[in-house]
Amino acid sequence: MKELTHFIDGAAVKGTSGRFSDVLNPATGEVQAKVPLASAAEVDAAVARAEIAQKKWAQVNPQRRARVMMKFGQLVNEHMDALAECLSREHGKTLPDARGDVQRGLEVVEVCMGAPAMLKGEYTGDAGPGIDLYSMRQPLGVVAGITPFNFPAMIPMWKMAPAISAGNAMILKPSERTPSTAMMLADLLKEAGLPDGVLQVVHGGKEAVDALLDNETVQAVGFVGSTPIAHYIYSRAAAQGKRAQCFGGAKNHMLIMPDADLDKAADALVGAGYGAAGERCMAISVAVPVGQETADRLIEKLVPKIESLKVGPYTGGADVDFGPLITAASKERVERLIQSGVDQGADLVVDGRGLSIQGYENGFFTGASLFDNVTPDMEIYREEIFGPVLCTVRAETYEEGLNLVMENDYGNGTAIYTADGDTARDFATRVNVGMVGVNFPIPVPLSYYSFGGWKKSAFGDLNQYGPDAFRFYTKTKTVTSRWFSGIKDGAALNFKALD
Ligand code: NAD
Repeated sequence: MKELTHFIDGAAVKGTSGRFSDVLNPATGEVQAKVPLASAAEVDAAVARAEIAQKKWAQVNPQRRARVMMKFGQLVNEHMDALAECLSREHGKTLPDARGDVQRGLEVVEVCMGAPAMLKGEYTGDAGPGIDLYSMRQPLGVVAGITPFNFPAMIPMWKMAPAISAGNAMILKPSERTPSTAMMLADLLKEAGLPDGVLQVVHGGKEAVDALLDNETVQAVGFVGSTPIAHYIYSRAAAQGKRAQCFGGAKNHMLIMPDADLDKAADALVGAGYGAAGERCMAISVAVPVGQETADRLIEKLVPKIESLKVGPYTGGADVDFGPLITAASKERVERLIQSGVDQGADLVVDGRGLSIQGYENGFFTGASLFDNVTPDMEIYREEIFGPVLCTVRAETYEEGLNLVMENDYGNGTAIYTADGDTARDFATRVNVGMVGVNFPIPVPLSYYSFGGWKKSAFGDLNQYGPDAFRFYTKTKTVTSRWFSGIKDGAALNFKALD
């Protein structure tokens, strides 16, 4: 049995807590490795070493730090296939999808190659007589990144690249279910010239996370995962006086207007609903056709497309559309939710349950399922299913569809398919969701914008990556400076406006 290690001070370090978690191959159900779960003492030791390394790293000039990102980006490109394979082996997603996972992380690294421009301060000369005012952005110190299982390359890169290029040290706590890709990334960063200790990868579960939240040296926490944990981490980090941005779950709706190109909308729904087995925070999980005729025609177009999707292991060839769920418990939960939909009166138009793949009978596969006539009170509507299940909620009017999105607890992403610019513009302006697609199903902003949901999809301030990330990972210091010209004119006792 392969025993994974932590990555401390640039080297592989065995866990000492004596506790491990199984790392599964979701396609076969087999345990392929065991990952150490760090104790609080191990976390504290990693943080203490990072604190020393950060002080030196912060003194490296921004352009030299950016050069490490430049080299890192080059290495990630060179190792794209190996990273994708490592990621698929633990996550189960198809290789092209895994390469997309690496690519969308790499794009954030590319923006960080220009970090010096993001780190510039502001300056006002002659803000008063002989007075100059300037601000500078300084790193926070040691920060923590806690990431989910579903994007094992992309989200760690979203966290580490901006934090490190801004002069911080990062303790990365990847998901214990997909831990190996982060280790490969750490090796590549070392090869790119990152000094030891600036990135520490510490594996673990709740004990390790709580140790990070309670450690006084850790200045900020960037979290991505499910909403209950995001809220917990946000509250505990804030109670300790830390900066926190915690991104949570989602229930993304797509409105399909009667004038939409329904073939395109159906293709978009299939890709966004079932890609990566629906295990994406930006997956479309609710289709909202407006008008009965739109709904009937849409379902008619969706059914054959969904029925022809091929589910299989990532090694199953180019025609596999999506892989297994992450664990047996996820599969059981998704199939239980499907049953609850049936029991509560929704129409299960395509039933993906009971799928068995020859040679992979113990894998966590479930086929694509489609519901029609779902209503907002049903559990399948209220819960984030996080599986290959698309729910259709029929709306009579545009306003009814928009209200559905507005009243949903989550606000990560949403999309509208329409041929009418005025409708699209109204939707984009009024909807209370962080990322909006117009005739575009998964509107993950490019890396020079930034990513973040609203409502229960995100707690804290500032989005991840892009300019917001540099605001999050730096603190602003503002200096009011005066140099006397020679004659000392006495102390000013009044707090007054500069004239
Ligand atoms: P999760 O919340 O179970 O785990 C996320 C991280 O938190 C992991 O590192 C895990 O070890 C840690 N963790 C889990 N339980 C904990 C506890 N009780 N105390 C402290 N730490 C704990 O999430 P997941 O299942 O890995 O990922 C799927 C979820 O992430 C979905 O809800 C999905 O929508 C969400 N997600 C959101 C975004 C976004 O940007 N909004 C992106 C990707 C995934």
